[in-house]
Amino acid sequence: MDDKLDEDAANKQLNEVAKHADKNQRLAWRRKKARIDQLIERLQPLQEERLKLIMQMQPVMDEIEAVRQDMVKECIHPLDHLVHKGSHIECKFCNVKLKINSV
Ligand SMILES: [Zn+2]
Repeated sequence: MDDKLDEDAANKQLNEVAKHADKNQRLAWRRKKARIDQLIERLQPLQEERLKLIMQMQPVMDEIEAVRQDMVKECIHPLDHLVHKGSHIECKFCNVKLKINSV
């Protein structure tokens, strides 16, 4: 099969679809596209600020997670995290299922 011929045929078909819109439609559409490009450009410096904030937040988030992991390991199963499930009790902090001791 001739690749060049296929490419020509494909381009013809692409142009057929693209020329469907009239000149005014195309102009209006391209104006909107330009507007979006402008708005994206306006976002750029904010995006950089956002990245800087995320980088500042990360070590704090890491520390929170490390402390939380310690607390899970050393869980005291505090009352306000306990849920009675009828046959057992679940600690929502460490996700452990606890046997019910008859009182
Ligand atoms: Zn617990």
